[in-house]
Amino acid sequence: MRVTFPHMGNLWLGLKTALQELGHEVIVPPKPSKRTLTLGSQRSPEFACLPLKINLGCFLEALEAGADTIIMAGGVGPCRFGYYGAVQKRILEDLGYNVRFIIFDPPQGRWREFLNDLRRVGNGKPLYKIFSALLFGIRKLEIMDYLEKIGHKIKAREVNKGETTHILEKTLHKLDDASSYREIRRIRKEALEELLSVQRKKIDPLRVAITGEIFVVLEPFVNMDVENELGKMDVEVERALYITDWVKEHLIPSIQGIRKHHLLEKMSKPYLGHFVGGDGQLSVASAVIYAKRKFHGMVHLMPFTCMPEIIAQSILPRVSKDLSFPVLTLVFDEHTGKAGVLTRLEAFVDLLQRRRVVEVH
Ligand code: SF4
Repeated sequence: MRVTFPHMGNLWLGLKTALQELGHEVIVPPKPSKRTLTLGSQRSPEFACLPLKINLGCFLEALEAGADTIIMAGGVGPCRFGYYGAVQKRILEDLGYNVRFIIFDPPQGRWREFLNDLRRVGNGKPLYKIFSALLFGIRKLEIMDYLEKIGHKIKAREVNKGETTHILEKTLHKLDDASSYREIRRIRKEALEELLSVQRKKIDPLRVAITGEIFVVLEPFVNMDVENELGKMDVEVERALYITDWVKEHLIPSIQGIRKHHLLEKMSKPYLGHFVGGDGQLSVASAVIYAKRKFHGMVHLMPFTCMPEIIAQSILPRVSKDLSFPVLTLVFDEHTGKAGVLTRLEAFVDLLQRRRVVEVH
């Protein structure tokens, strides 16, 4: 099998590692680009949400590079994600591709089906080897998540803008080449030392949370690199979700995942009492959590026509008013331009700075 998968932030690192450990030939889809977006948008239903269009474009580029099997997560619940696999398979078949799809639905008690799906990608390996390959991939992602969290604090203060991003990109590629736990521990240690030696200004930056639909939050091409743009404005960013959080909540049950789920339910409850699909509940809960943590504001990212985030978007003004917590919602589709996003971010940061001055006096 020549295997490919959707591109979403650093996800490729974990999937490539796990699939190579299982002996597959892996075709990593190129980073999403204008071409990816154009390919996907031209062949998708107009009102499909942006992640479907980008993923379809990624698949087309990976198929051009020789992939014959697509692995992707499925979903259950009130949003369209559960139909993605079937819709994309149908579109590719209509375009004349003969491609094999393996769709992982979150287990949610259906462990037998989940284990069967795992065996389908296992390349004949026993289950313990499949889990060990997955855990190695996840461990690499955990290290990147950890370093990125530290990187967000440094980016706001760094003297030479872009230095932290460069260290993180270099580390990502070193982790990609690493083949043992010993090696990745060494890479983590070295990257941490490098990050901590970055020359920093002594400032007290604005702190802004980033939340919203997972694909838009994690994929810099889609969100116009909002984290780095805020970093350039000397703003410290904290992201409400990371790729390993999603894995621990949805694919591999963990105490940490269960705790996070309960926290989100509790925090969103006064405004939204039930799951609405995707990350809608997370977006509402994030506003409450970050307001209580005295952040200066929150940026809410969503794809155009995303059902769970439309619900969150309609609730957030009330949360914002009740807690006196500024929230900026940015909606992305194939027509979004970077200049417009930057202008809105600059205006938001300006507003937060003025609020801070008024609060101090
Ligand atoms: S969460 Fe939103 S963007 Fe993601 S699949 Fe569901 S509707 Fe589409």
